[in-house]
Amino acid sequence: MAESEFDIIQYYFSGRQPGRTDVVAGIGDDAALLSVAPGSELVVCMDTLVAGVHFPESATAAAIGHKALAVNLSDLAAMGAEPAWATLSLTLPVSDPDWLKAFADAFFALADNHGVQLVGGDTTRGPLAVTVQAHGLVPAGQALRRRGARPGDRVYVTGTLGDAGLALHEGVSVSPGLQACLDFPQPRIDAGVALRGQASAAIDISDGLLADLGHLLEYDGLGATLQVDVLPRSEEFRAGLQSLGAAGEALFYELPLAAGDDYELCFTVPEERCSEVERRLAEIDCACTVIGVIEKLPGIRCNRSSGEPYHPVLSGYQHFNEAG
Ligand code: ADP
Ligand code: MG
Repeated sequence: MAESEFDIIQYYFSGRQPGRTDVVAGIGDDAALLSVAPGSELVVCMDTLVAGVHFPESATAAAIGHKALAVNLSDLAAMGAEPAWATLSLTLPVSDPDWLKAFADAFFALADNHGVQLVGGDTTRGPLAVTVQAHGLVPAGQALRRRGARPGDRVYVTGTLGDAGLALHEGVSVSPGLQACLDFPQPRIDAGVALRGQASAAIDISDGLLADLGHLLEYDGLGATLQVDVLPRSEEFRAGLQSLGAAGEALFYELPLAAGDDYELCFTVPEERCSEVERRLAEIDCACTVIGVIEKLPGIRCNRSSGEPYHPVLSGYQHFNEAG
């Protein structure tokens, strides 16, 4: 690379943030030294983004820098954790100062927003790939988990679904708002914290509602019935579908159900706690919608508001929808 690994770390990643008091040693030592407050549990996750696999070759450096951290913060949100630290492994084909600046600026903008300090990483040459490990803290015993839902619990999602999926869909004239949903997802950290002690189970939606809710249900061998007409859809989503004409009609259901990359939270709440949960989320301006109910019968069933069943067309999910 034109600049050495040392220069890259020094110019773009080191000394850019106010230090957290719980960082004893950050970038520059052999390893980060971090202090976990007594009574807290450490929540750790990692996600890799590979060019051409997790983002198109055309993705901007800013979008990659934001998203590499955002997808990890979304995992912390789903656990009810408050983010604290991150490490960054960066593999670059070339050292391009403009690219590095835009990448780092977006990464740190999101990090600073959530009080996350970059405490270390690794820098290597190779095909473009970015791995971030994020560390969060949660009072011991209070983390949200995928397990824990019970029959009768209401199924909620935050925000709106399908926006990122529509931005990726061929033939759509993508509005700036939809593109931002895809490139700059905002992790639901505040919502995760507000749901501690309230939600019976939670997961973030990275692979699509059916897939991710499916993971949540698997843990307890449960099922759910969803109301597909009430799935939350943004104005931009509805407008984007209209530009597709007839082709947009099936996507009205398919994208909110099956498209990934929304990074909203899906969570379950016992009925008696629903009003408290809705109050807490309203307080932090986080929209939420009840989309269904947990049932004993395994599988996910989808209903129209008319009461008729809706059968998702995407293969792999149809077996969830056989009557019975
Ligand atoms: P070592 O050879 O001992 O692994 P490195 O030269 O890889 O050390 O890293 C030196 C310091 O810079 C370490 O503290 C490491 O965590 C940090 N670092 C390396 N790459 C990055 C990066 N992309 N972002 C942040 N910190 C980094
Ligand atoms: Mg190293």
